[in-house]
Amino acid sequence: MRKADKYANLAAVFGPVIVLIALIPVAIQHDLLAWSDLIIFTVMYLICGLGITVGYHRLLTHRSFETYKPIEYMFAIFGSMAIQGGPMDWVADHRKHHAHSDAEGDPHSPHVGHGSGVLGAVRGLWHAHVGWTWRVHGMATHKKYAIDLSEDRGMRVIHYSFPFFILVSAALPFGLGVAITGTIYGGLTGLLWGGLIRMLLQSHVTWSVNSVCHFFGNRRFDVEDKSTNVWWLAIPSFGESWHHNHHAFPRSAKHGLRRSEIDASAMLVGLLQRFHLAWNVVEITPERQEQKLTSANPTAPRAEAGPHPSA
Ligand SMILES: [Zn+2]
Ligand SMILES: [Zn+2]
Repeated sequence: MRKADKYANLAAVFGPVIVLIALIPVAIQHDLLAWSDLIIFTVMYLICGLGITVGYHRLLTHRSFETYKPIEYMFAIFGSMAIQGGPMDWVADHRKHHAHSDAEGDPHSPHVGHGSGVLGAVRGLWHAHVGWTWRVHGMATHKKYAIDLSEDRGMRVIHYSFPFFILVSAALPFGLGVAITGTIYGGLTGLLWGGLIRMLLQSHVTWSVNSVCHFFGNRRFDVEDKSTNVWWLAIPSFGESWHHNHHAFPRSAKHGLRRSEIDASAMLVGLLQRFHLAWNVVEITPERQEQKLTSANPTAPRAEAGPHPSA
């Protein structure tokens, strides 16, 4: 990969974050950011982020573990509050991504149909990062890619209540702000940081997994797509940036397969398991990982079998 392509990729990811960090002192100076806002931001980021990574992704898309229905619905509601689409749309798009990774039909590959050179790389990254959300988001059919969810009445209700959860996602940080500070103004800054900025930043991180983690980083398993592991995204993405590991073993509840690969989502699944709230947690033995290493066994099977072959 050319250096210029990598720089274009990094600029697209770091640019908005640097702008946000630069604006923080200005916000403090103008009384637009207080400690209460940081608390609200963190709480909302955790709830909605884990709703996506543990709920939408590992539980609903890949069935990496099983849990009680009310917990499954709770995760689906938390995921909805991240405002990345209703659960059936998100799951269908993501299963389609795994079924056609970096090939024709992948809803958000940075590598397919965007031309070559720096311009092609920038176009591909833009599409993978955010462009796909208004071009092809939600176009993977529920019947083909999310039949298990669409046959679940409770999940259908949550999915079609998505506009209501957008309101909840805004009302909650506002309410928390009012409760902590006792003022409407505190509610409004809570809404700004715990609602709007949290939503933009969180979407940026999720989109970065789609773009950066198919473009820039390390690989060690024998998989056909271009997925990569990106260590510096591991904390904000709650472990989702061990994306190459994930493409190698899509049903694994752990995406960070080594001790050094921090994976907060896997930690939460482990915690649920310890309290008997999660079971049938899919784990990949060291022997299976060894078999799939590129150099150790280049002829290893390429796809992970499971109840959702496309997942
Ligand atoms: Zn991927
Ligand atoms: Zn996945």
